[in-house]
Amino acid sequence: MPMRMDEVFGTLRQYQEILSRRVELEKQLEAMPKTIEIQNQMLSREKKSLSEVKEQYEKSEASLKELRQALAEAEMKRENAEKQMDGITTQREYDSVNKEIREASEKEQELRRRIQEEERRFADIDDRLHRIEMSVSTLEAEIAQKRAEIDEHSKEISDEIETLWSKENDLTHELDEDLKFKFERIIRSKSGMGIVPIHGVVCTGCHMMLPANFVNEVRQADKIVFCPYCSRILYYEETETDESMEEILAGSLVDLNNDEIEEGEDSESNDDTDETSGKAKRGSARKKRVQSEPLIDNDFLIDTMDE
Ligand SMILES: [Zn+2]
Repeated sequence: MPMRMDEVFGTLRQYQEILSRRVELEKQLEAMPKTIEIQNQMLSREKKSLSEVKEQYEKSEASLKELRQALAEAEMKRENAEKQMDGITTQREYDSVNKEIREASEKEQELRRRIQEEERRFADIDDRLHRIEMSVSTLEAEIAQKRAEIDEHSKEISDEIETLWSKENDLTHELDEDLKFKFERIIRSKSGMGIVPIHGVVCTGCHMMLPANFVNEVRQADKIVFCPYCSRILYYEETETDESMEEILAGSLVDLNNDEIEEGEDSESNDDTDETSGKAKRGSARKKRVQSEPLIDNDFLIDTMDE
């Protein structure tokens, strides 16, 4: 015996809850490795600057060594000249040695100044080096911890997805496969809302005013009707505004003709290209047929369930 339409709608509403939870979990699962990606990028940047700073460190260290050696030489030169002073007998000799001492002293002063400068630079570099080393080890620890968390959380999510799958199978075994497939695609592309009530003549999914013949189809509740604007499945739900809607339906509301309906439906279905996850879990015969098919095809737009 085929399902009654109110049973189909009820099942679809329950299915929607499970399905949107599963879709959400699958997205989470997919996004999880990306949360670590940023830290990995930061780590590789830090490692790059670590090697640059290490290079600067070595250069500065070498140049300090050179300067200190030059200073020692200048000092020795001056001391030797000072010793020569004792044995000096002529003014000319005195002038020459004196000039040597003066030049050596000047060089010493210049070198001392440069050494101080280089020592300051070296201290800066050393400081930066320590900071980067700290940051690298902190990031490495964070990444390791996060990776462990991801592994654990992924396991939990996968388990929940498994549970949802079996709930879905129990709930929907009487539903038409075609309908299930389309419904899942609607849920995926419409952020979890695949079946919505109409209030008066308005689709509560996209808040568009629906043509009168659509509203009547929905109210008859003997077939699956998709919103021509947002493709969601529509069902009738009584509201306080219904009586005034009767007048609207009987009166002035401009109906869409068939051509317009087809246009709206095409542009709606083209934006939906996400088939991958549904595809993997469907039967292969179904899969082949559906890939190039628009989301809502003409003969399914208004489809009776008991065919
Ligand atoms: Zn709609």
